[in-house]
Amino acid sequence: MRYHRIPNETIRRLPIYLRGLLFSSEQGQQSISSHDLADFVRINSWQIRKDFSYFGGFGTPGIGYNVEKLIKEIKRILKLDVLRKAALVGVGNLGSAILAYPGFKMYGFDIAAAFDINPKKIGRKINNIVIEKASRLPTLKKRGINLAIVAVPRDAAQQIASALVKAGVKGILNFSPCYIAVPKKVKVITIDIAMDLARLPYYMPAG
Ligand code: ATP
Repeated sequence: MRYHRIPNETIRRLPIYLRGLLFSSEQGQQSISSHDLADFVRINSWQIRKDFSYFGGFGTPGIGYNVEKLIKEIKRILKLDVLRKAALVGVGNLGSAILAYPGFKMYGFDIAAAFDINPKKIGRKINNIVIEKASRLPTLKKRGINLAIVAVPRDAAQQIASALVKAGVKGILNFSPCYIAVPKKVKVITIDIAMDLARLPYYMPAG
């Protein structure tokens, strides 16, 4: 099926719906109304219906949405319908926590390789992944890994990003607190926890 262009805001919400639907599926639910899904994911039901209308809906009045069908469709749109291998670069405190985080599996991600430059870390195993030296980044292409998570210090981030692009990586989740420049065909999403925290006090009541 081809879709009309789906707005980025809708794409941002699809993983939230997917998480809710996967949970419903685990509970053995076969269908779910937009109201129940709304309660669960805390997004308005009209917003959910509008988002789903971009790709055909799949709802039946009085019955709701078919959970499995919707999971399949959202996974297909997000291109999560295949197991995606990812590499981690920088196995410091943050990188180690990322390697140990079990939450990636649910969306079909497998962190299959980890790299660092610290000789003390190279060869060590975290969560069954052996840390390799960063000079082995060019092997990613033949290992079928085109996604990477970057958790190196700011001053190393650009150099690592460029090496990843050279190794065929097409998507980077960047935890380094800086902008990284990549060719247009490569997608970068930067997550800066401190930056998110920095806008929180603005919304807090005074006193
Ligand atoms: P630690 O003190 O254990 O290194 P940390 O979280 O304080 O942990 P950072 O300075 O944030 O360390 O660095 C994160 C990780 O990135 C470290 O393991 C470091 O060795 C690694 N690193 C730094 N530069 C590079 C690079 N160019 N390529 C790959 N890994 C790098």
